[in-house]
Amino acid sequence: MSTEKLNPLEVALRQLEMTADKLNLDPAIHDVLKNPKRALTVSIPVRMDDGAIRIFTGYRVQHNNTRGPYKGGVRYHPEVSLDEVKALAMWMTWKCGVVNIPYGGAKGGVVCDPKEMSKNELEQLTRKYILAIIDLIGPLKDVLAPDVYTNQQIMAWIMDTYSSVKGYSVPEIVTGKPVSVGGSEGRVEATSRGVVFCIREALKRLDMRQKGVTVAIQGYGNVGSNIARLLYNEGYKIIAISDSKGAVYQPNGINPNDILQHKMKGGSVAGICLGTVKGFRGCEEITNEELLELECDILIPTALENQITKANANKVKAHIVTEAANGPTTTEADELLYKNRVMVIPDILANAGGVIVSYFEWDQNLNRQHWTENDVNIKLEEKIVNAFNNVFENSKNLGVDMRTAALMTGVGRVAEAVKTLGLG
Ligand code: NAD
Repeated sequence: MSTEKLNPLEVALRQLEMTADKLNLDPAIHDVLKNPKRALTVSIPVRMDDGAIRIFTGYRVQHNNTRGPYKGGVRYHPEVSLDEVKALAMWMTWKCGVVNIPYGGAKGGVVCDPKEMSKNELEQLTRKYILAIIDLIGPLKDVLAPDVYTNQQIMAWIMDTYSSVKGYSVPEIVTGKPVSVGGSEGRVEATSRGVVFCIREALKRLDMRQKGVTVAIQGYGNVGSNIARLLYNEGYKIIAISDSKGAVYQPNGINPNDILQHKMKGGSVAGICLGTVKGFRGCEEITNEELLELECDILIPTALENQITKANANKVKAHIVTEAANGPTTTEADELLYKNRVMVIPDILANAGGVIVSYFEWDQNLNRQHWTENDVNIKLEEKIVNAFNNVFENSKNLGVDMRTAALMTGVGRVAEAVKTLGLG
């Protein structure tokens, strides 16, 4: 089967099928896990700033809640589709399984282009979306979080809308909130910090020294920019960075603070080559595709799905691909990377720092506590390093790639719970 044109759901189902084979899974349990328990589509009418009414389409997909409440982010993007949200919800279930936190998997999405909308329009959209799905969500039912093009402010509106309906403050309905309304210290960087811990562990396992290791990062949003900053501070050499408009290649190394300042003035990553920013003389503007094929030690896709495919997998020169994004590699590309001895740290492990600290945030909210950033980071490190070591050992012992090992752990834990409780 060619996966080149596969949508993310087909990739997710193919991964599940291969894992079910390896685990010798009961076909009835495999069937349960193939399908989300619920998939809701809603129409969201919003009065735009010019007075016109626009109808947006939104989704909330709840994949599985056998091990705990549904948990998953909300994505705002023009290309959101029901299949994409179903795939992302399924990956959330495996992710919570692989790092062993008591959550199931869910995801939400709204088809919109936030870059074209005012703050007021985004607020109206968010509040109406939450009202449209409110019967399905709750602190012990389904807990929301940020994803592509949603942020702390949007999480605050989600909390406020839900709390207004309930008549009292319910911070535990959503994670990734501002600290001032119950957010956790360290949540903003948590996904990126988890990625950096995984990279550090992988380098140890591959006997590679950390200093001067070269890194290319595709995507420069919340996760990508924090990865760049954390890696730079630890002495890694970032040689390429991109956003949706293009990429910049600077073999002498990039200081992420320079990019941040340039972006704060409204510039795009690629456009930095045209300006006069110190440190970018002699840099080269390249495409997002070229970035993936650069000579480097570590490649970090941090944008959208299906970036490494059958067409370019053989051109990837990095030793380690760390999937900060969800679903950036197709199944056929996975096989090629494994054959070429590229270590892939799979999404459900690499980017699990976000959901781990979301779990900590939820725990703090339920118990009306507030932990220090240091406490959060220590607990995050312990959880993600344990999960990394567990997946790495399994991959060696079973002779499979890291994704298969991670899926076997994540799917295996969920399947065991389904078997114990009944088919649900
Ligand atoms: P974000 O909205 O903050 O940033 C997305 C970035 O991707 C932006 O820099 C954008 O310019 C770039 N981008 C968009 N389309 C692109 C394209 N075609 N090519 C290259 N770059 C493109 O989103 P984020 O929260 O940083 O999420 C990024 C990825 O990480 C997503 O796959 C998301 O599912 C995953 N993720 C996020 C979290 C989290 O805590 N935010 C947790 C786990 C996984």
